[in-house]
Amino acid sequence: MKRILPVLFALVALASFGSAAEAKLRVVSSLQDFASIAQSIGSDRVETLALAKGYQDPHFVDAKPSFVLQLSRADLLIVAGLELEIGYLPPLIDQSRNDKIHPGNPGYLDGSVGCDILQRPTTQVTRAMGDVHPYGNPHYWTDPENGRVVARSIAARLSQLDAAGSATYQKNLAAFEARLTQKEAEWRAKMAPYAGTRIVTFHDSWPNFAKAFKLDIVGHVEPKPGIPPSPTHTLEIINLIQAQKVPVILVEPYFDRKTPDSIAARTGATVVTFYPSVGGTPAITDYFALFDTDINAFVAAVKGKK
Ligand SMILES: [Zn+2]
Repeated sequence: MKRILPVLFALVALASFGSAAEAKLRVVSSLQDFASIAQSIGSDRVETLALAKGYQDPHFVDAKPSFVLQLSRADLLIVAGLELEIGYLPPLIDQSRNDKIHPGNPGYLDGSVGCDILQRPTTQVTRAMGDVHPYGNPHYWTDPENGRVVARSIAARLSQLDAAGSATYQKNLAAFEARLTQKEAEWRAKMAPYAGTRIVTFHDSWPNFAKAFKLDIVGHVEPKPGIPPSPTHTLEIINLIQAQKVPVILVEPYFDRKTPDSIAARTGATVVTFYPSVGGTPAITDYFALFDTDINAFVAAVKGKK
């Protein structure tokens, strides 16, 4: 007994040290946007990381070996869903051998649930459509009200996984929502003078943003989502921009500017880099800065043209 007791004490000490070190829930998201929201809700009870960076095309992410290790340690995986991550994530989840984060388990959260999802298919989906948006538009977090829904889902799931932190998560959620409400009023006021502005975007990333801020998307530089520009389609877009007096072409930071720049040169429209995600540029440090940056860029580009 004399020998066992110190060993027991040492084990208890180790265990408590271990639990202190492991107290933080490990949250992994496919997107920096949801990692940012999860960090706001989880504060010091969570550590968050994102697989895709905000300056990368979220449909086509290069799977790094480190992703498997990060997933193997995760307590919660938050995805955009609607097959945004279909090109890289499912095999990584399998390779992580982490049952907690398998779809259907509490450690897997699909952020799209409960959100306002646009372009839901009304006919049977087939791959022959060549579409990367088969189950509706997956860029839904560009509507801040969907960000609110995601924040609520994250708070509920964190509370389920870590009941001891529930009061903290609810308090942080309330603070997040209060700030979002205040910022939305500011953003809507800035965008109000431009309601109804016709825009062209490179990829179909912005229907939720356009709905939230009353813009009218009349065309895309891509003939279909995920299909690169073609000469015939580019000519159609040039004609469309001229006919409808479209002032701006919004381009996500990860696309080649060659075609949009040539369209701009032919039409007088202004090409604006528009960031769909947190981390798209270093200034976009959180979900609020995302809208601040894009809305300021939009207003600066359109102001002189109205
Ligand atoms: Zn897309």
